[in-house]
Amino acid sequence: MISDSARVFLQRLIETPSPSGFEGPNAAHFRDYVAPFADQVTTDPLGSVIAVVNPEGSPRILLSGHIDEIGFLIHYISDEGYCYFRTIGGHDNSVIVGQRVLVHTRKGPLPGVIGKKPIHLLEPDEKGKAVELHDLWIDLGATGGKEEILEAGVRVGDSATYAVGYTPLLGDRVAGRAMDNRIGAWTVAEALRRVKAMNPRAAVFAVATVQEEIGLRGAHASAYGVNPDIGIAVDVTFATDYPSMDKRKVSETKIGGGPAILLGANANRKLADRIVEVAEAKGISYQLYAHPSGTGTDANAIQIARAGIVTGLVEVPLRYMHTPCEIISLDDADKVAELLAQVCASISSSDHWTP
Ligand SMILES: [Zn+2]
Repeated sequence: MISDSARVFLQRLIETPSPSGFEGPNAAHFRDYVAPFADQVTTDPLGSVIAVVNPEGSPRILLSGHIDEIGFLIHYISDEGYCYFRTIGGHDNSVIVGQRVLVHTRKGPLPGVIGKKPIHLLEPDEKGKAVELHDLWIDLGATGGKEEILEAGVRVGDSATYAVGYTPLLGDRVAGRAMDNRIGAWTVAEALRRVKAMNPRAAVFAVATVQEEIGLRGAHASAYGVNPDIGIAVDVTFATDYPSMDKRKVSETKIGGGPAILLGANANRKLADRIVEVAEAKGISYQLYAHPSGTGTDANAIQIARAGIVTGLVEVPLRYMHTPCEIISLDDADKVAELLAQVCASISSSDHWTP
């Protein structure tokens, strides 16, 4: 069950923008949530937050969930006062068109919209063509040119994010910007809270990693710094329960079906088997997800850190990845947190993981 304070924490994470490289505000929320039960909380030089329970325990288990999100970086302000941007992380340019955004300035957030030439005026060769990023701009409503924009506090190097928050939908489903991967950061914090009460033999580190969307950069550094024996990343995965998703191309996964457990080269098979065994023993519904190579998640960076780390990946099924309306099931998130806590509680130094 998700407690009221855990629900407030999730909503706060979703409603606080933190694109890659600008994770500070959400790192602060993560620290606040774990402070009452973690034995120690530190923040590394990149900004990843590392909270630990039972730091002297063995083995050392790292749970990672990234707190960054995709967004935009302003790189040029025209004399007319329009802000041109590059994308932070992987975007579908057709989704960017027509969105409301917030530009994060040193004077606070400023609302704007993504502008584009109207359909009526497109040249014949422009119709039906992919949207080019340089044909889009952020319009803050200025009429006084660049001077007005600078006066409002905007600078080259400011970030922007979609101006949408947390929307409860039918049942236990919620929509939001950056469910990828606030839900992962939330589950590792919540798993840490739950495992504390289970008196684990292992040292359990819950890490809110930064810069995942631009190359798993936070996980690279924190996997080295924490020096774990075992790492389990939590991220989101493609639900295939909506039109256009082809189950023949990706595994079959649905929201509300429980945690998706990775099988494949990026997961130590004995650890994956343990995760499945624990799910079955504790009556937690789960789904299996197969991927043949390194995944695009923190699990990839963790597995090949140092001399190699025993790695697993547990995912929350999600619809509409990398759009402002990502949907997840809260029940899935609750089950992921419970599964992680139970897996950590099951692990002792007498377990053997060598393939
Ligand atoms: Zn992502």
